Amino acid sequence: MKKLRRQFGAKFVSALTRCPTLVADLQAIAEAGIKIRRVGRWCQAFTELSKKTIYIGSKCSLSYQLVALAHEASHAVYRPTISPLPGETGRQEFIERCLEDEVEAFVHEAQVVEEMRRARIYVGKHLLNWYERYKKGGREAVLCAVRSAPSSITGDSYPEHYGEWYDAAVKAPFRLPMCSSSSGCCSRSATPKANSQTDRTVCNRLGTSFL
Ligand SMILES: [Zn+2]
Repeated sequence: MKKLRRQFGAKFVSALTRCPTLVADLQAIAEAGIKIRRVGRWCQAFTELSKKTIYIGSKCSLSYQLVALAHEASHAVYRPTISPLPGETGRQEFIERCLEDEVEAFVHEAQVVEEMRRARIYVGKHLLNWYERYKKGGREAVLCAVRSAPSSITGDSYPEHYGEWYDAAVKAPFRLPMCSSSSGCCSRSATPKANSQTDRTVCNRLGTSFL
């Protein structure tokens, strides 16, 4: 906690300790030997599994930093995305797995948003998008939104982004045949809109984690 106070300030730590899920996340992060680092330049948050490090932007708002920590804890500890294995992992299979990992991270952060609201900690409006999707439509609504949301790194959709990751990790002779998307859920009229650029869709593809 001392280190976190030094990195992100007393307000951050005070707010964090009022969210039981974040306190548990912090414990789990420490037990897994994962570090938390500040990252500058623009507001961003991501995980590099290869470096066992979660990066949280120093330029982000307090509520963003808290929600991003929850999101990254999911990627770093609870449900890390494993790179595809040449000759073993199918392209679509890999994309679907990544999308499920992403859904898990958004569901986890929704829990923290709930706790922040209960503790009367201000939550930035743009951070409520995923929370509200989850409250209204559950995991399925989150999955639909993730399918169409752009990655802030490439501007591509999540499936495109993960597809590129697969192509980079698995050279052509070892790729398994592609199949069509297994879900048509996003063609429904109730499909939530793609999230704005302010959503934290940052992915470190080398480290295999995604915000
Ligand atoms: Zn993510």
